Amino acid sequence: MSAPSPATAATAIGNAAPALPQHALPSYLQADQLGPWGIYLQQVDRVTPYLGHLARWVETLKRPKRALIVDVPIHLDDGSVAHFEGYRVQHNTSRGPGKGGVRFHQDVTLSEVMALSAWMSIKNAAVNVPYGGAKGGIRVDPRTLSRGELERMTRRYTSEIGIIIGPNKDIPAPDVNTNEQIMAWMMDTYSMNQGSTATGVVTGKPVDLGGSLGRREATGRGVFTVGTQAAHHLGMAIQGARVAVQGFGNVGGVAAKLFAQAGARVVSVQDHSGTVYREAGLDVPALLAHVAEHRGVAGFAGGEAMSRDAFWDTPCDIMIPAALEGQITLTNAGRIQARMVIEGANGPTTPEADDILSERNILVLPDVIANAGGVTVSYFEWVQDFSSFFWDEEEINARLVRVMQTAFDAIWQTAQQHRVSLRTATFIIACTRILHTRELRGLYP
Ligand code: NAD
Repeated sequence: MSAPSPATAATAIGNAAPALPQHALPSYLQADQLGPWGIYLQQVDRVTPYLGHLARWVETLKRPKRALIVDVPIHLDDGSVAHFEGYRVQHNTSRGPGKGGVRFHQDVTLSEVMALSAWMSIKNAAVNVPYGGAKGGIRVDPRTLSRGELERMTRRYTSEIGIIIGPNKDIPAPDVNTNEQIMAWMMDTYSMNQGSTATGVVTGKPVDLGGSLGRREATGRGVFTVGTQAAHHLGMAIQGARVAVQGFGNVGGVAAKLFAQAGARVVSVQDHSGTVYREAGLDVPALLAHVAEHRGVAGFAGGEAMSRDAFWDTPCDIMIPAALEGQITLTNAGRIQARMVIEGANGPTTPEADDILSERNILVLPDVIANAGGVTVSYFEWVQDFSSFFWDEEEINARLVRVMQTAFDAIWQTAQQHRVSLRTATFIIACTRILHTRELRGLYP
């Protein structure tokens, strides 16, 4: 065994250790080497000057409260054993239990899950639901698994993270490549381990298992709600507006449908399989039916196929990135023709691209408010599960719109007041709320 370095040795003897620079972040949390987490840290730094006396607590936001890495071994159908890496990160629980989705994707990393969990803290505080932020994921391409393998992987993962989740501790929900069925398996696994049915442990469940009406459409509906409000501020009519959407799943598909229903022209749609374009507007219901059958937009006869890269040049008024993070970058931000970008996805715009869009006077509705509709209705679902009393869809949609509009109005006013972007304004409101509760609670012990 090699000799400990001076720093390690000093740390090992406790009181004799030289003081670390105050607030030094552990290396795995530092900004420069950590894609999405680094981006999040830069966003926190940007907002710190606006936090007044609460800035003394800001370091709380720069560290996840708890991060769990789990091995997920399963039997594949051919009898062999495969191991997957899973994560659950609880970023902050000052305002309530952790809350955030679970993602199954081959590119999932700890840095990504940490950033997504932190953005959940911000988002939940921005719409003022009583939750902290959390997120989970498994590094896997679920399309390579059979249904049986997917179920076994989901159940084993749920069992492994079962020590930190629970209806009052941390409540997962769907995200990329996870859906109502995955939530049903998660709920069942957790309930089996607990010995009683615990519907409140996840949201985004099937309605017959304590899910909420309106949950599936909630994120897209929220995107549409804040998009409409912002368009009003810009003096832009939705009727006839040209919309380009990247990602045509739960968020992008629903947002496209609602914009089309309101009279907008959805001119371009891109997903993992390809890109389709039609100047007069794509037939969105027909495209949704095509995707349901063929698992992607490629091959849709009602539009022209476009190259993946040409999507960013689409002549449009509104662009909705609703796929993955890191899509709008230094390379393509200068080419976007929209007047407004609505971030349906989490983290789709890099900070450099954000600056370019702002210089070009393109309004960005940031993820931390634009896609908060999902977690808002997740909150309604959790409340309904606890009271075992379920609301009708009309009531849910009306409450969702009210929450989103109230939050967006406050963000718009804060942005005007401080002359900052909507992203910074959302962070100002959210960080203030989180750190205020931190201060009220004080530090244990
Ligand atoms: P989904 O799995 O339903 O859909 C994802 C879509 O993105 C699919 O159409 C897929 O084909 C497309 N896609 C994947 N890789 C792509 C690529 N390289 N290029 C273009 N398109 C690609 O997922 P979702 O639930 O709609 O989530 C989309 C985004 O919205 C994610 O960033 C997620 O974190 C965020 N989000 C989702 C919710 C929710 O309630 N589902 C809530 C808030 C935020």
